[in-house]
Amino acid sequence: MKPTILVLGGGIGGVSAARELSRKIGNEDGINLARILVFEKEKSSLYAPSLTWMMVGKREEKQIYGDLSDVELGGIEVIHGEITSIDPEKRTVASNGTEYKGDYMVISLGTKLTDRHDLSRYGHNFYTSGGASSFYEELTQFEGGEIAVAVSSLPHKSPVAPYEAALLIDEFVREKDIRHKAGITLYTPETEPMDFASEEISEKVRRIMRQKDISYKPEHELISAGKNRLTFSTPGGQGATAAVPFDLLAFTPGHTSPDIIQEAGLTGTSGWVEVDMQTLETSYDNIYAIGDIISLPIGEGKMLPKAGVFAQYQADTVAHNIARKIRGKKPDKTFEPKGSYILDQGDKASKVDGSFDDGNLTIKTSSMIRHWEKILAEKTWFLKNF
Ligand SMILES: Cc1cc2nc3c(=O)[nH]c(=O)nc-3n(C[C@H](O)[C@H](O)[C@H](O)COP(=O)(O)OP(=O)(O)OC[C@H]3O[C@@H](n4cnc5c(N)ncnc54)[C@H](O)[C@@H]3O)c2cc1C
Repeated sequence: MKPTILVLGGGIGGVSAARELSRKIGNEDGINLARILVFEKEKSSLYAPSLTWMMVGKREEKQIYGDLSDVELGGIEVIHGEITSIDPEKRTVASNGTEYKGDYMVISLGTKLTDRHDLSRYGHNFYTSGGASSFYEELTQFEGGEIAVAVSSLPHKSPVAPYEAALLIDEFVREKDIRHKAGITLYTPETEPMDFASEEISEKVRRIMRQKDISYKPEHELISAGKNRLTFSTPGGQGATAAVPFDLLAFTPGHTSPDIIQEAGLTGTSGWVEVDMQTLETSYDNIYAIGDIISLPIGEGKMLPKAGVFAQYQADTVAHNIARKIRGKKPDKTFEPKGSYILDQGDKASKVDGSFDDGNLTIKTSSMIRHWEKILAEKTWFLKNF
């Protein structure tokens, strides 16, 4: 009997896993050695790294979504609809009133985004395409005043995105020749930019922000929001708070694991799915989890950042090992948290690169080539998968 693999989620991790599974198992058009079912509630798949470009009018909605029907090759079938429950004991999922059973399961359902302090009444959640595009509409009308980029809570996916957002907004208002009339401030509960990295990297990012005259407010924990005003608890002593005005607000939402994952008892003490660091297998046999939904400790109490680059490497690792198991061979690939992350500034970009578990990371100086590297990564994603 042909094995069935259930891939939960058709975002960056899920699409990568399905594609890699099909390739590594040896599915071809007409000869499918395994059935790969991808479950996705949306009609198309969002490439979130391009949302920061959408905020400043460099991308439109149609450019940052992939049509999931294009993924249906090599034994891959897309089941459209919301997964309503998961039973890890039976290795089944329910969607559209039907129960699907798999021999293997790869969970890549990402994060549930929450609206903390009712922020969407006052600003734009740029972690969604709706929020990124409504921010851009308001930005085009902006003639001067205070622009706030606020990180509403930790953890959030893409540790770089709020910095990139502030830098791209800076470029936009400079090009509009209103930079002298615009204040740009980034508020975050983090102690340092990208605090998973080294002090040197944090300082370089701070320097880039200073050069662009972007005000950086770390250790600012959002406690309430209102019309044109945010209130933070601040590091200035016990009980210190600051109420700050803004005219235009972009914010990151709260992040939790999806309800169905919690209901299935798949979350650990971290609140996220806990997996074997090397194989990404959960405590259930043949059930793997990858991408933003997992929490991987990388030492000193830090967690691996939630990033698409890791979701893709994890998809590759899991697909390799499932393909070997199907052939009756021992799984032999382990996930290594190595990779690179680009911080785009518009005309140029810098790159954080290296090994995330031993802190052996470097930051490459800003250059136009790195900006093109980020564009190339986006183009490759769509060409390879859709
Ligand atoms: C603004 C921004 C900028 C970013 N920039 C970068 C970057 O430069 N580099 C980088 O590496 N990463 C970046 N990221 C992070 C990257 O997008 C994520 O880490 C990546 O998408 C994680 O992949 P995933 O498969 O875990 O989750 P997702 O891509 O979020 O996919 C999860 C999928 O599951 C689906 N789903 C959820 N629940 C259900 C359900 N019940 N039923 C059916 N389907 C469901 C969702 O609709 C979604 O399609 C950025 C993210 C944002 C928001």
